[in-house]
Amino acid sequence: MENPFYQFDPRLSAYFEEAEKRCAPVYARIDEIAAYNEAKVLHAFGEARVSESHFAGSTGYGYGDRGREVLDAVFARAMDAEDALVRHNFVSGTHALTVALFGVLRTGDRMLSLTGAPYDTMEEVIGIRGEGSGSLRDFGVEYEQVDLLPDGTPDLEGIRSRVVGAKVAYIQRSRGYSLRESLSIASIAELVRIVREADPSVRIIVDNCYGEFVEKQEPTSVGADLIVGSLIKNPGGGIAKTGGYIAGKKELVELCSYRLTCVGMGKEVGCTLNESRELFMGLFFAPSVVASAVKTSVFALALFDLLGFRVYPAYDAHRTDIIAAIELNTREGLVAFCQGIQKGSPVDSFVLPEPWDMPGYENEVIMAAGAFTLGASIELSADGPLREPYAVYLQGGLTANTGKTGVMLAAQAMLGQGALKLYSQNT
Ligand SMILES: *Cc1c(COP(=O)(O)O)cnc(C)c1O
Repeated sequence: MENPFYQFDPRLSAYFEEAEKRCAPVYARIDEIAAYNEAKVLHAFGEARVSESHFAGSTGYGYGDRGREVLDAVFARAMDAEDALVRHNFVSGTHALTVALFGVLRTGDRMLSLTGAPYDTMEEVIGIRGEGSGSLRDFGVEYEQVDLLPDGTPDLEGIRSRVVGAKVAYIQRSRGYSLRESLSIASIAELVRIVREADPSVRIIVDNCYGEFVEKQEPTSVGADLIVGSLIKNPGGGIAKTGGYIAGKKELVELCSYRLTCVGMGKEVGCTLNESRELFMGLFFAPSVVASAVKTSVFALALFDLLGFRVYPAYDAHRTDIIAAIELNTREGLVAFCQGIQKGSPVDSFVLPEPWDMPGYENEVIMAAGAFTLGASIELSADGPLREPYAVYLQGGLTANTGKTGVMLAAQAMLGQGALKLYSQNT
């Protein structure tokens, strides 16, 4: 990456060249998936007959907002789903997941997580932590989880026996803040098959955050009942300013819409203000932006593997999400890495991130995010809880070249702090 703008330690530049060489065939695979998904999304736009009039927003109740209805239709088609609820007024992925769970579950029901502990922010929603604040548990919904096996994979035998009689089987596709493997679409298809065999009445809900468009299929393509995610991650294409989605079986999406707005009104209300055009555009860009994020991720994994760190997954692994996890081993390493990523961001590059007690998270967390959209993790961002083994979770990159520059600056910052030792340049 020769240019006059960023000067890297020459030894680091040699590592860059080597990482790029190793990644070339992986990048080619990513491009092939992106081409497929771009065609899928383009076709969905055509089938739904998107036109310029759909970009005009509505106000007030938002009755008869055609843009809102057509966006749901395009999104559903792109996700191989019957219907979708794509709204700027989901405040986050956690909110969309909450609406989905409260939409489907009733008092006396049991929710079973098939993939161990859910994402940190879901603990209070479910009622694993906290009491009396209106969690699912406060409303009489029972929660159980089938822990992952020691190797990080789902316990298929445990699932088979314990899923019988559950109302919801909950699957988290991406690793989140853990070092387990993310679940490929093929693995999700197997879980779906096992659940259906054990008890066909169970509803399967997938936390699809960070997974959209990384593979050619989505969990809904292989039989999941609902998928849920955030629009400031993959499917917003870096353009959506806020929002979330729920997609899947029509009658379940309707139940969720009753929870988002009100019973009886559901999808018929909710003005779009001026957000529609950006949600359409974001979806259109999403497959190519996701490809940039996956390339950034693959590069980071290859580079830090070469530098001697433990990385998850391997740079050439089959990918199902955009997250790279790297064990940086020390608090100083984690902090320096995030500060380097911040330096490589287009916005707030001069800010020095520090660890803080973020609401909803149990440990101190450090986050680097110099994004056009606050908190958007489809944009280059890195974060990690300040606990052993000081793993950093890296995601995003609106363009692959700027993403790689950010990763190089992270390595350089670690080098400057003594948190990275270069033994030799001839890799
Ligand atoms: C991001 C994410 C969520 C939701 O997080 P928000 O910050 O509320 O959007 C849930 N699950 C996983 C696995 C995630 O990555």
